[in-house]
Amino acid sequence: MDSLLEMKGIVKKFGDVKALNNVSISISPGKALSLCGENGSGKSTLMKVLCGIYPYGDYEGDIYFANELLKSKNIKDTESKGISIIHQELALVKNMSVMDNIFLGNEISQYGLTNENEMYIRAKKILSQVQLDIDPDTIVGELGLGQQQLVEIAKALNKNVRLLILDEPTACLTEKETDVLLALIQDLKEHNIACIYISHKLNEVKAISDHICVIRDGEHIGTRDAKEMSEDDIITMMVGREITSLYPHD
Ligand code: ADP
Ligand code: MG
Repeated sequence: MDSLLEMKGIVKKFGDVKALNNVSISISPGKALSLCGENGSGKSTLMKVLCGIYPYGDYEGDIYFANELLKSKNIKDTESKGISIIHQELALVKNMSVMDNIFLGNEISQYGLTNENEMYIRAKKILSQVQLDIDPDTIVGELGLGQQQLVEIAKALNKNVRLLILDEPTACLTEKETDVLLALIQDLKEHNIACIYISHKLNEVKAISDHICVIRDGEHIGTRDAKEMSEDDIITMMVGREITSLYPHD
């Protein structure tokens, strides 16, 4: 199957420091790729390159999305192509309603929605897609963190997302909220939406990934079929040596 996304030979420098050195990844529609690596290995930087937070010209290498070379000037440019990123620090406006957040930054006329009533109905429908049974008029700040995460995803769905990036999405979620999120990702995959997932929780990585890519010190160590990798294999690739024992004196 044709790739939806190809990032080829990405190099990103901060001053003289190479945060990414020749990293390549690819992903097909409806598949999930996890990025694994220790803190500071370059995972978030790679995603910021992809999203246009670091614009075209600010990195080396090429990004192809749906066979088209991406030359994003900013995050809005990338979103308009169908790529959305959800950060651990959510970007919702807490004192606005769920509905206003979902439509924030979108031309209402783009959807042919001419009044609040139509927006309300569309918001309700999109919320049900993320299994969120709440009134669209609810103020975001009144929701739990897990629910806010789902509102972020609803917002991405409203923009016709084709590739959803989740950077450490479960760091602040309860176990139950995490389960809801993982089930939703599975559902999105079945609707042909691709997903890039970053988490330190290797059980989650194993549960949802089709492929696992390991990055160490800005270098691409390898990408493997998730079924062929145990949690120990992932850790060994992340740290660059065999872990024989967690206890040095054994
Ligand atoms: P990860 O997400 O894997 O924890 P990051 O992509 O955040 O890692 O960081 C990769 C490397 O790039 C780290 O050494 C980090 O200190 C450095 N880095 C990240 N962002 C910046 C920045 N804006 N300026 C300078 N160095 C940065
Ligand atoms: Mg990070």
